[in-house]
Amino acid sequence: MNSEEGTCQAEREVVQLQRNALTPDTLGLTLSESKQLLHTLQQVIVKHQVTFFIDQQIPCPDCGQPRKQQGKHTLVYRTVFGKLKLQSQRLFHCSCQAHASQSFSPLAQLLTERTSPEYLYLQTKFASLMSYGLSVDLLAEVLPLNRQISCSSV
Ligand SMILES: [Zn+2]
Repeated sequence: MNSEEGTCQAEREVVQLQRNALTPDTLGLTLSESKQLLHTLQQVIVKHQVTFFIDQQIPCPDCGQPRKQQGKHTLVYRTVFGKLKLQSQRLFHCSCQAHASQSFSPLAQLLTERTSPEYLYLQTKFASLMSYGLSVDLLAEVLPLNRQISCSSV
């Protein structure tokens, strides 16, 4: 925490690269290292985004009072950088207004589709070029799709 600027920065080792001697194989990132890097970055970014989003949802938009938290459920969201397992916080509606239900899940309301638009686009594009099995293999070869990211929102 930097108190002078009022910002909070999380420091974390994202990826460790080891290079003994420069060879054609060791120049720059390998595909495997880039997947690890993307996967870890995705984890850090998503955790911050989800936590920030949920924090913003807690005050009632009508009266500003904090809404009570009801518990969480796991929400799965597929991206080109892996499958996200997000802890989706449920909130009770505020009693200042009438609501059809007692509680709601802001994250589930936001992520109505459980696959990112970018991943859907790639799946559709590759499916038009080759068989489903080949496109699944190709995408898994170049993207960290098979990795799983578990993030708790708070
Ligand atoms: Zn209210």
